[in-house]
Amino acid sequence: MTYSKYWNPKNETLPREELQVLQLLKLRRLCEWAYATTPFHQRHFDTAGFKPEQLKTLDDVRRIPFMTREEWMESLQEKPMFGDLLATDPTNAIRYHLTSGTTGRTPIRVLDSMKDWDWISEMWCYGLWGFGIRPEDSVYFAFGYGSFIGFWGAHYACEKMGALVIPGGAQTSEARIKQIVEMGVTTVCSTPTYALHLWQKAREMGIDLAKDSKVNKVILSGEPAGSIPAVKKQLEEAWGAKCGDTAGMTEIGTIMIFECAHQSGGTHIIEDHFIGRGFIPLIRYRTKDMVMKVPASTCTCGRTWDLYSGGIRGRWDDMKLIRGTNVYPRAVEAIIREYTGIDEFQIYIWRKELQDEITIKLEVKPGYEDKWAELEQKLMKDLAQAHEGLRFNIERMEYGLLPHFELKARRLVDARPRAQY
Ligand SMILES: [Zn+2]
Repeated sequence: MTYSKYWNPKNETLPREELQVLQLLKLRRLCEWAYATTPFHQRHFDTAGFKPEQLKTLDDVRRIPFMTREEWMESLQEKPMFGDLLATDPTNAIRYHLTSGTTGRTPIRVLDSMKDWDWISEMWCYGLWGFGIRPEDSVYFAFGYGSFIGFWGAHYACEKMGALVIPGGAQTSEARIKQIVEMGVTTVCSTPTYALHLWQKAREMGIDLAKDSKVNKVILSGEPAGSIPAVKKQLEEAWGAKCGDTAGMTEIGTIMIFECAHQSGGTHIIEDHFIGRGFIPLIRYRTKDMVMKVPASTCTCGRTWDLYSGGIRGRWDDMKLIRGTNVYPRAVEAIIREYTGIDEFQIYIWRKELQDEITIKLEVKPGYEDKWAELEQKLMKDLAQAHEGLRFNIERMEYGLLPHFELKARRLVDARPRAQY
């Protein structure tokens, strides 16, 4: 059967002027809804002297005050459990989720309605369909199905599109690999770290996923690595499949950007829906993600939606200052991943007397041991070159000593005394 290559052919190819009319209309409607229903936004808008009717052009978005995670947290602490952000009665909710289980911060609790969930899955439909998933596909979710939102929305998107969903919930990696092969799975949804882990596990089991499985697409989410070319290349070779990046925000429960099947090196912004959920309206929310916007014309797929070249390039929060030089974990990872001889790694920041030090602890892949000296020198040079000459220490760890992650990887350890920051 032949399908349109777009999930929503009208909106995905809307001329820019019409797209902006739609964006303005939706933004204004959301601001009116938030102002009328949510004490948080009433207070927020009033303090900034902003009224929804001031939105006459898209430029007026600047009149809307920024909303931060910190303000949200304050509201939660003052009025447990959900703060004063709910736009409707809690009894109207059908689902409860936590925003994040990884960063060590207190998670934010969210409620969503049926309408929100319809929207959450619709956003994933844009991305999954855009990367080539069709009703004939069997989609495997290498995901824990817990309170963390993760791939929940993608699960419902596949149902909506008519693809076969195979939920790989609470199972071992071995059991998941067996299912992927047995069921003739064509698409796997996973974090980049876990996709790599599954491939390594399969190798130990004597299974070559590129040859022994029918997987031809891997949908990546949850970590910025899905748009790091070296990681993508490694995963595409390992799985013998095309790997597509998507990125969202746990706070909105779904994705905002996706890589289309043309793989232009960027991720399209879902521009007809750039505004958040209805139950907890998020307006001009500071994501602190670092992106580089490029025009729609940089991709050949025909969508009129602009792209973020290289996906999410990191988070402002993640930046570390070492002896006056900015270090972004993602940039360091991009360099390390160029080395096929390196398996797991950790970025370790510490203090020696009064000076900050950065050490890359790494494990050498079996079979690459005799290349170590050469690798160490070259890596040290590459890292310094990309960081204004900053000296990186390299420390080789015994194989298996570093933590190997199944879900979101935590490869940065900042061991500097906290009180001084
Ligand atoms: Zn495209």
